[in-house]
Amino acid sequence: MPNQVLLVTAARSKTVRRIVTAVVLLNLVLVLGVVTPLFAVPMVVAGTGMSGGITGRPTVVGEWGYPLAGDYSYSDGFGPRNVPDCALCSKFHRGFDMYQGCGATIYAAGPGTVIRASAWGGFGNAVEIDHGGGVVTIYGHMMWDSLMVQQGMTVVAGTPLGLEGETGVSKGCHLHFEVRVDGVAVDPEPFMAARGLPLK
Ligand SMILES: [Zn+2]
Repeated sequence: MPNQVLLVTAARSKTVRRIVTAVVLLNLVLVLGVVTPLFAVPMVVAGTGMSGGITGRPTVVGEWGYPLAGDYSYSDGFGPRNVPDCALCSKFHRGFDMYQGCGATIYAAGPGTVIRASAWGGFGNAVEIDHGGGVVTIYGHMMWDSLMVQQGMTVVAGTPLGLEGETGVSKGCHLHFEVRVDGVAVDPEPFMAARGLPLK
């Protein structure tokens, strides 16, 4: 009897190994497909990733990915804005506001080093990542005590940073996603689109 059990276990692990090998190969094919025609394939990959839902992993294309996993709503883009009922809100919005709901996981958009993970004025509880080459991303308004990274940590696209909240100058839970190049805030939409990750 023990032999039978062993055989079954061996057969199972063989099957598991086959499945793992198949998945690895499939991923390899996907990665190669994405990297080579950088601007042709990502749309398809992004499309399949969007069905992942809040609990899934964010869609990653090459080295960059969405800061939220699955579908999200969009409330405010980059540029001048008029917020009559919010005296403290800036008149020029330097980021891209997106949300899934209070407590949704926020992810690093690209590889780099965490240079801030703390309370930061109007950003509330925020994380700032230095991606090198003068590029920095900021993730604002996360819930207090929700940060999962610390200053000095190395992250990649998809590393969980914290949970969506409404700390700082914020009306309702959302992620303020900001991109700075050489210290100047730039529009996150074309920045991410150029990396195969169109925001909406
Ligand atoms: Zn914002």
